[in-house]
Amino acid sequence: MKKVVKFGGSSLASAEQFKKAGEIIRAEESRRYVVPSAPGKRHGKDTKVTDMLYACYARAEAGEDFSKELAEIEARYNEIIKGLGLTLSLKDEFEVIRKNFTLKAGSDYAASRGEYLNGRIMAAYLEYEFIDAAEVIFFHEDGSFNAEKTDTVLSKRLAKVERAVVPGFYGAKKSGEVKTFSRGGSDITGSIVAKAAKADLYENWTDVSGFLVADPRIIDNPKAITTITYKELRELSYMGAGVLHEDAIFPVRKEGIPINIRNTNCPDDEGTMIVESTCRTPEYTITGIAGKKGFVAINIEKDMMNSEVGFGRKVLQAFEENDISFEHVPSGIDTMTVFVHQPEFEGKEQSVLGAIHRLAAPDSIDLEANLALIAVVGRGMKSNRGVAARIFAALAHSNINIKMIDQGSSELNIIIGVRNEDFELAIKAIYDIFVSVAL
Ligand code: ASP
Repeated sequence: MKKVVKFGGSSLASAEQFKKAGEIIRAEESRRYVVPSAPGKRHGKDTKVTDMLYACYARAEAGEDFSKELAEIEARYNEIIKGLGLTLSLKDEFEVIRKNFTLKAGSDYAASRGEYLNGRIMAAYLEYEFIDAAEVIFFHEDGSFNAEKTDTVLSKRLAKVERAVVPGFYGAKKSGEVKTFSRGGSDITGSIVAKAAKADLYENWTDVSGFLVADPRIIDNPKAITTITYKELRELSYMGAGVLHEDAIFPVRKEGIPINIRNTNCPDDEGTMIVESTCRTPEYTITGIAGKKGFVAINIEKDMMNSEVGFGRKVLQAFEENDISFEHVPSGIDTMTVFVHQPEFEGKEQSVLGAIHRLAAPDSIDLEANLALIAVVGRGMKSNRGVAARIFAALAHSNINIKMIDQGSSELNIIIGVRNEDFELAIKAIYDIFVSVAL
């Protein structure tokens, strides 16, 4: 049995948190490869080291004095080292960082130091080998992740080491230039390491006991999700369920390696298992609800649209020309609607409308802004009749007008469009009808 364990920032924010992580790792022989994040917040008003690094580097880039900011970051690490009773000194490391900041090494380099230094501490604390992610995780020159090269180099390297620490969040381009994933990207590194190590399980340790059926800021004490499939999770995390970076499932998914989300502060909780498929029927018909506000619907009308071959392509080309990706395209006989993100669309609005007129010559176009999309997701929907009926009844009882409905062909999710101001109420109504009444 071989496990890769990734610890999030709050799990490594202080020496005490480090000790909890250490205990977890030492509790099982199989926890052989460790992927740490940078130190996160120690309390609500604290600042994550990654954010401190970005701010510090911004001063360096502007040619301002950044010594105070860098000293504060060094103090965060020294506090951890001292609390763990290690003899390690990061003095030389900080001297290199100071020099590279002055040479304007880039904000990705700056941010990556958060994980790099935490990895150094973790390796010293566990007495595991340290593998710099810049030597084993690769990016193409255009900034995209180079999966092939990474897998070849990393698997070779891991085959030679019994136990190692690989810092999360970054890698390097061919030129050696450090590049990071997007924020929260240590989750992706964990998944890449799990694939390369041919692990049996990827444990992702964070500060919650897994995924919840709905956002706890909207629903009081929502139920936990014990098992979820990759596909369901993809739908939910795309729509805003935040526990895991949405790209983190791809490397392990192809290999069929499950991900277990666990809580460093409650290590006995089983957390959520993310699996390729399962015969375990979900406790409720739905697995989860997630959603986002801030969409615009572009309603396009043209008589006889149904018989005009290529109409849809022309409309979508107008979005492509403006570099806007669309979310959903529900259509009727003579109407077609395109849902896009409002902030992305706003600046380009007139240019898109002009392009639609030029390319597709519609009769009319009208816009509806401030819409929210809610995804009701569940593998259990396929075998249950009346899911949509229950959702609509719940929304009708709450006096919520439904603006759009879209059911994917996989019968895995139903997307509902409502007004932004009805968003929370709609989620409550759907949660109640599927979960509260089932209790
Ligand atoms: N430290 C990075 C961030 O704050 C990456 C991570 O924690 O996953 O985004």
